[in-house]
Amino acid sequence: MNKTDSKWTKLIQPDFVKNDNFKSLADSIERASTIVFDDVSKLRNRNWKDKHSYSYGLMGTPTSRRLEKQIAIIENVKHAILFPSGLSAITCFLISFLVSGDKVLFPSNVYGPVIDFANFLKERFGIDYDLYDPINPDNLRISPNTKLVWVETPGSVTMEVSDLYLIARVAHENGALVAVDSTWSAGIALPVFELGADISVQALTKYQSGGSDVLMGSLSTNSDSIYLKLSESIMKLGVGVSQADCHLILRSLPHYPLRYHAQDNSARRIANWLNSSKSIEKVLHPAIPGSIGHNIWKKYFTASASLFSVVFKKDFEQEKIDAFVNALRLFRIGFSWGGAVSLVVPYTKDQLHKNFPFEGSLVRFYIGLEQADDLINDLDQALTKILN
Ligand SMILES: *Cc1c(COP(=O)(O)O)cnc(C)c1O
Repeated sequence: MNKTDSKWTKLIQPDFVKNDNFKSLADSIERASTIVFDDVSKLRNRNWKDKHSYSYGLMGTPTSRRLEKQIAIIENVKHAILFPSGLSAITCFLISFLVSGDKVLFPSNVYGPVIDFANFLKERFGIDYDLYDPINPDNLRISPNTKLVWVETPGSVTMEVSDLYLIARVAHENGALVAVDSTWSAGIALPVFELGADISVQALTKYQSGGSDVLMGSLSTNSDSIYLKLSESIMKLGVGVSQADCHLILRSLPHYPLRYHAQDNSARRIANWLNSSKSIEKVLHPAIPGSIGHNIWKKYFTASASLFSVVFKKDFEQEKIDAFVNALRLFRIGFSWGGAVSLVVPYTKDQLHKNFPFEGSLVRFYIGLEQADDLINDLDQALTKILN
């Protein structure tokens, strides 16, 4: 007969097991570094590629697997993998797929930190890149070593909508892969895979989180071989996600489409109001006629994110624009987006890509969940201040 363990050991290894009859609607957090095996043969025969088994916390727990499944459903594809930020999804993808001598084409309006990483890859590993004009894909210069064409539509500051379908066709004709940063369309507004994407990147940090409190990213694909290659390199890079953070996103996902559409409505009202302001040269909102690539937006998109920019008339000096931003009360000054609170960021001319055709200063707005009338009043009082 076994001797009974002391209560102090039982504190560490209790007799009771978790109750499988507990049925809650709430998602739970399964945390792990160590995952234990029933016996030695199970340990030896573990298979990290089997998404129904678990071997080590870095390769996921049921919580992160549920989130991956939901992201794949949203994106309408077979596979999704999580990363600790949107940027790490992008950098891990690039480093997994490219080798010395390869070349990548990025649009000139691409999310800024991507270019910093592209320069790092170029200097350290001899992976070359070129920029293309997102609104003139005829200029897409694909060479035999072009392995990948990157698309971000619209650009998240300058808001040009590019023709994903056309770009993907040219890329595929030349044997290049097409990766799309779909953060703005968020799996809701643009069917990126139907239009030719091989890989879609999302910063789940934005609408999917919705709380301004989580960083996470995802890569999605229909291709088994791309998925396998990515899974293998994640193991090598040691990239994993926090299960508690996955839980927060799982908690927000059920209402993110509602938030997206409600905020879209507010943002279009506000963008239209700004469009009639005599201080504004141009409203850069894909759904507003006159915005760059508006016709492409009309052709392919079914909705818009609540992130857009305006260009002020060029006689407003940067000092005045900064004073306008400082005078805003409800719009808070800060990066990222997707949460409940409206945000504003001013960009100076030298922070914008060289193809950007306007001379005036650019201000980017993120419309949160506040009442649109209150936000319009806030913009009105701040504009009045700089006009006097
Ligand atoms: C925010 C953002 C990213 C990066 O996401 P993080 O989670 O902040 O690293 C990448 N692309 C776009 C378009 C973004 O807006």
